[in-house]
Amino acid sequence: MAWDFQTDSEFQKKLDWAQDFVVNELIPLEPLLGVFSDEVWQQEILAPLKQKVKDQDLWACHLEKELGGQGYGQLPLALMNLVTGRCPFAQEVFGNMAPDSGNAELLAEGGTEAQKEKWLWPNLRGDIRSSFAITEPWVAGTDPTQIQTTAVLDGDEWVINGRKWMITNASRSDFIIFMCVTDADAPVHQRCSMIVVEKGTAGMDVFRDIPTMHHPVESFGELGGHAEITLDNVRVPRDNLIGEVGGGFILSQVRLGPGRIHHATRWLAEA
Ligand SMILES: Cc1cc2nc3c(=O)[nH]c(=O)nc-3n(C[C@H](O)[C@H](O)[C@H](O)COP(=O)(O)OP(=O)(O)OC[C@H]3O[C@@H](n4cnc5c(N)ncnc54)[C@H](O)[C@@H]3O)c2cc1C
Repeated sequence: MAWDFQTDSEFQKKLDWAQDFVVNELIPLEPLLGVFSDEVWQQEILAPLKQKVKDQDLWACHLEKELGGQGYGQLPLALMNLVTGRCPFAQEVFGNMAPDSGNAELLAEGGTEAQKEKWLWPNLRGDIRSSFAITEPWVAGTDPTQIQTTAVLDGDEWVINGRKWMITNASRSDFIIFMCVTDADAPVHQRCSMIVVEKGTAGMDVFRDIPTMHHPVESFGELGGHAEITLDNVRVPRDNLIGEVGGGFILSQVRLGPGRIHHATRWLAEA
């Protein structure tokens, strides 16, 4: 499908406001990144900026209104990312920071009311952070049919074993959604399920942020870092499964499909 990067005049006005806001109010703050404590940065600096975005009806603009967004959808988000991608914290200020934004879509699609209360609403408010873990070190990340991390039901608990890496923000996340093999004998695209593991769960070790071109020095706890994680007999309640057993591939497309467009425009802006 061809796309000419045009939008309707009403949304174009929003984009023009966003462009002005990013250039004149966000980019000038970049030298202050890392200068203040996380609390001061969040409460004193980002919170008033987020309010300005909300006042413009642009907070999480791609999400449906019942999720606290504006219902604009994914293509306007892609255009928005051409603007916000220029500043490393602009997406947080606009309420569409990856991986939280995609995780919100996944929880909205597959989560129970209890799961939404526990993870979705606090995540959308910006009170907690999340990660999404598919990729593993020993198999091709481009082919999730090769995932080796397993989750086995034992009574009322899932017991998870495996290893993930490149997991964005995992060293800062309050919960991580893991894609695990729950039935190795099922047809290939029904083998995996999505299961939430909360920070601090025994047996889960988020032990380093992997060096990348973006963050060339190995570190830990960096927002925007990409962590490696081991899972050694991690036990979580049965209710931490999102959606159906075997529904992992379908749920993953809820967030990965649109991401192929809006991540690309963000990177265009960053470049
Ligand atoms: C900045 C960043 C953030 C990330 N964040 C996350 C995250 O939050 N969560 C997460 O789960 N993952 C994350 N990832 C991992 C990402 O999803 C994987 O890097 C991606 O899926 C590619 O997998 P891979 O690195 O294992 O490369 P590979 O799959 O090994 O691919 C390497 C190269 O080989 C090619 N290739 C692979 N298989 C074949 C084949 N059969 N035939 C021919 N060519 C082939 C590919 O096209 C590619 O060019 C992140 C990666 C980056 C760079």
